[in-house]
Amino acid sequence: MTFNDRRMEIQDIVNPKEEVNYCDSLVAYQRRDTIEVRVGDLIIGGNNPIVVQSMTTVDTMDTEGSIAQCIRMIESGCQLIRITAPSIKEAQNLKNIKEGLAARGYHTPMVADIHFTPNAAEVAAKIVEKVRINPGNYADKKKFEVIEYTDETYRAELERIRERFLPLVKICKEHGTAMRIGTNHGSLSDRIMSRYGDTPLGMVESALEFLRICEDENFFNIVISMKSSNTQVMVQAYRLLVQKLREGGFKPYPLHLGVTEAGDGEDGRVKSAVGIGTLLEDGLGDTVRVSLTEDPEFETPVAKALVDRYANRAAHAAINALDDYPISPFEYNKRQSKEVFNLGGTNVPRVIVDIAAIEDISVKELKNVGHFYLPELDKWKMNDLGCDYVYSGDHPIQFMLPNGLKEIMRYPSWLKSIEKENKFPAFRLAEFRDEENLHPVLNFLFLQDTEVKGAIRLLQGRQDVAVILFSDNIHNMSALRRSFVMLIQAKIDLPVISSVAYPDQEDDKTMLFAATDVGGLLIDGLGDGIMLSLRNKKADDRQGLLSTIKLHNSVSFGVLQAARTRMSKTEYISCPSCGRTLFDLQETTAMIRKRTDHLKGVKIGIMGCIVNGPGEMADADYGYVGSGKDKITLYKGKEVVKRSVPSEKAVDELINIIKQGGQWIEPDGVES
Ligand code: SF4
Repeated sequence: MTFNDRRMEIQDIVNPKEEVNYCDSLVAYQRRDTIEVRVGDLIIGGNNPIVVQSMTTVDTMDTEGSIAQCIRMIESGCQLIRITAPSIKEAQNLKNIKEGLAARGYHTPMVADIHFTPNAAEVAAKIVEKVRINPGNYADKKKFEVIEYTDETYRAELERIRERFLPLVKICKEHGTAMRIGTNHGSLSDRIMSRYGDTPLGMVESALEFLRICEDENFFNIVISMKSSNTQVMVQAYRLLVQKLREGGFKPYPLHLGVTEAGDGEDGRVKSAVGIGTLLEDGLGDTVRVSLTEDPEFETPVAKALVDRYANRAAHAAINALDDYPISPFEYNKRQSKEVFNLGGTNVPRVIVDIAAIEDISVKELKNVGHFYLPELDKWKMNDLGCDYVYSGDHPIQFMLPNGLKEIMRYPSWLKSIEKENKFPAFRLAEFRDEENLHPVLNFLFLQDTEVKGAIRLLQGRQDVAVILFSDNIHNMSALRRSFVMLIQAKIDLPVISSVAYPDQEDDKTMLFAATDVGGLLIDGLGDGIMLSLRNKKADDRQGLLSTIKLHNSVSFGVLQAARTRMSKTEYISCPSCGRTLFDLQETTAMIRKRTDHLKGVKIGIMGCIVNGPGEMADADYGYVGSGKDKITLYKGKEVVKRSVPSEKAVDELINIIKQGGQWIEPDGVES
C-alpha cells in the first residue's frame, strides 16, 4: 500500500462530513459528560472542577530537591504532581519523596511519568496514585522505521503489547491506581506510523490499542491525552478521540489537556492557550497541564487562569442553535474568502492594532507596533512584528505613514480627512446602511454577532468590504464561530477580521484570552485577521496605553503563529525539562533565542534528553538535544548532523548547521 493509498484510507475513516459528535454543544457552553477517575483524594472528570497539574524538573533521585520543588508547586496551586521515573531506582525513590512531603503535611497526589520502562511503571504503580504511560513507547522502541504490517503481523504486535501491558493494568486495579494513557504526536510507535502516519487518527488509535486492553480487564480508572506541539494537530486529535470514544462504545473518559514543548514566556503562554483554550471552549478537558520552559511553579497559575474562565461560563447569553455545521473539526480548511485590497483570499491573516485611545500618536511611538523611524536615514523600517493596519478611531495620525502600514479611521473622521485614499473608513452597521460615500476599494464594517443576520442582504454581492466581527457574549469564541457559520451559509465570502476587547488586566490574561478567543477560530480556518482592543481605557496613562498596544501587537502575531496561520518569528519547540534533562534548559533556550530570534519561520527544537527529545521535537527544522553530561546532539529535521558536541560549542555549531541549511540570515539590527 502506498502512502497515498494510506491517506485515502484515513480520509475514508475520518469523513469530515460525518455528524459532528465531539462535544455536547457548539453553541451552549457545557462540560462534556465523563466518568469520574479517582486519583487518591482527587477526582478528575464528572462534575468536578477542572484539575490543574504540573511536573517537576529536578532529578528524581534528588529527594530533598524534589520535595522542595513539589512544595513550591503545591503552593502555587498545583493539585497533582507528575515526576519522571526513567528507571526502577527513580520509581522506588518516589516513595521517599511522597513520605517526605507527607511528613511536612503535604498530601497532594502524585503521578509517575513513564517512557520505555514497564518495570519502572509496575514499581511506581504501587507507590503513587497515578501512572502515566506513553502508548508510543511503553512496549516499543522507536526506530523511525516504516514497516509494512499485514493484518496478521499487526494482530501479533497487539498481542505482544497486551502481554507487556497487562501486569501494569493488574497492579493498578489492585492498588486503586489511576492511569493516564498519554499519546504524544512526536512519539508514535513505528507500528502506528506505518498504518496511520503521524496523523490525529494515528494518535487516537495509539491510545485505543491500550484502552481496549484496559476495558477487556474491566479497568476504567483512566484519563487520556493527545498532546502535540502543533496546535492544529493537538485540537483535531482530542476532538477525534472524543468522537471515536463515542462511536466505539467506550466509556467517556476524562481528558488531560496539554500542548507539548510550548516554549517559554509570551510564546509559550499563547501557544498553550491556542490549543488548550480551543478545547475548553467546547467543554472538553478535565485536567490541564501547561508545559513551559520555566520553573513548574509558573505553570500552574497559567493553567488556572485558563480554566477559571469557565467557572460561570454556562450562564452566557444564548447563541442560536446550529442545524448544519459546515466546518470540519478534524482537519484544517481555511474559510474561502475573496481578496479585498490586501485582506482575505490568499493573503496572510492581517494584524490590526487598535490605537484609538491615543491622541496624536508620534512618529517615535509607532515603534510599539513594529514600525521604526530612523532619523539619520530619514527612513522607516519595520521589524517582523510590524502590524498591517492601525485603527485610529477619531484620533487620526498626523504624519505620513510608512509604506507597510495603513490606517483605519472611524467613518465620520475619515469623511473629514483630506487624505482619503490611503486611509480607510470603518462603519457601524447603521452608518453603512445609509451611506453612499464609500471608499472605492476598501471599507471596514464593525459587525456585532447579533447584527450578522440583519447585515447579510447588505453584504451580498459587495467587493469592497472587510468585516470586523465582534461579540459581547462571554462565550465569545462560540458566538463568533456561530456568526462565521451564518456568513458561510449565506455565501458571504468577504474577508472577516476577528476582534476582541479586554479590560485593563494582567498581561498574561490578555495573552491567554486572546489566544483562546481568536486562536480557537483560526484553528478551524476562520478569520482573515485579528484585532485586539482595550476596554475601559484610562486616557491619561499614555505610557500604560502604549505598552498595551505593544502587547496587543505582539500577542496578535503570536496568536497567528501559534495557530500556524502566519509565521513572523522563530518558533522554539522547547521541552519543559524534567528529571531526565541534561542541561539548563531555561538558560540554553535564552542563549539560543538571543542568537536566532531573527530567523522568521524557522523552527528550532531544544530538548533536554535524547530519550524523548528527537521524537518530541516533532516538525522542528533544527534540533539541539542533550545527549550526555555537557554533550549535545544536533539535528537537521530528524537527521543527526553532529553527535556529542561539547555544550560550550553547541550553539555555534547549531548556527553553522542552519547556515549550511541555507536558512541563516544576518540580524539587521532593527529593534524588536
Ligand atoms: S524531552 Fe525534556 S521533558 Fe521530555 S523527557 Fe526529555 S528532558 Fe524530560
